[in-house]
Amino acid sequence: MVKDIITVKNLEKNYGSKKAVAGINFSLKDGEILGLLGPNGAGKSTTLNILSTILKSDKGEIDVLGHNLKEDAKTIKQSIGIVPQDIAIYEEISAEKNISFFASLYGLKGNELKKQVREALELVGLYDKKSDKPKTFSGGMKRRLNIACAIAHKPKIIIMDEPTVGIDPQSRNHILDSIKTLKARGAAVIYSTHYMEEVEAIADRIIIMNEGKIIAEGTNEELKQRVNDEISYSFNVNNSEKLIDEELYLIEGIKKVKILENEVYLTSLKSKDNLNEIIAVFLKRNCTIKSMNSKEASLENTFLELTGRNLRD
Ligand code: ADP
Ligand code: MG
Repeated sequence: MVKDIITVKNLEKNYGSKKAVAGINFSLKDGEILGLLGPNGAGKSTTLNILSTILKSDKGEIDVLGHNLKEDAKTIKQSIGIVPQDIAIYEEISAEKNISFFASLYGLKGNELKKQVREALELVGLYDKKSDKPKTFSGGMKRRLNIACAIAHKPKIIIMDEPTVGIDPQSRNHILDSIKTLKARGAAVIYSTHYMEEVEAIADRIIIMNEGKIIAEGTNEELKQRVNDEISYSFNVNNSEKLIDEELYLIEGIKKVKILENEVYLTSLKSKDNLNEIIAVFLKRNCTIKSMNSKEASLENTFLELTGRNLRD
């Protein structure tokens, strides 16, 4: 069993009468990428800022790598890298010096510092821009530099708060790739976003937050299963008039059949793995399949169903 390196119990944070975080429980496992998904105002930043020791909680217990957050914040801070929602870099000093500065705060010096600064620049794809000042950078490049500043000291845990908001697709892909590289190097990453496709692409596990609460948790597959276990197929065919509805309904798992002139639509239980049988019926009736599409339940559907709300409202 993979061990938990962060455990959060009954965490609460209020702003006046507003419950920003309303009693949440979760853990981060060693070496995993945990996606924290939720719309604006869900409480993601509040949660991550508390974990980052930037903000104090009102209630709850947090353990990071065996240390209690309230008692040992200083020790814990050494083992985490924090990429805040708002970029924090110095515009007037070179990219390299920015990283050097932040890494030196964690006690790195001399050749080790140099080596790790270089690795950080390479990781985010800014090595050839190392002498340039961030004021000349695009938003995406600044984001990447911000990440490099947070990870040069090789923290065991990396906390990233919406690192891809409002940047160009190239920088976005670069950042997602960097996160996978950091994981491959042994780091665990908590990553907040309101982009579903990002957590689907990189997260090992996903927590869905809404209005200060965790409303679902699981792998991408597990979360989709919560909504329904159905898959829809559409076949573009010749000779569909030779097909017989009843014959398709006999296949285990088939819930709906609709035969049109050139299209056949089927809804099936996903767990039944019956695509071979479906195709066998088509072949038996001399019905030629020209193309096929399938559509599974999406995380977007899951979210809508759980909250009645669109992620990007
Ligand atoms: P997210 O990061 O998911 O968008 P936040 O954690 O920033 O959510 O905010 C959660 C809730 O707490 C929101 O309703 C927000 O308006 C409120 N909030 C956040 N920070 C403050 C603050 N400093 N003062 C008052 N309310 C705040
Ligand atoms: Mg936020």
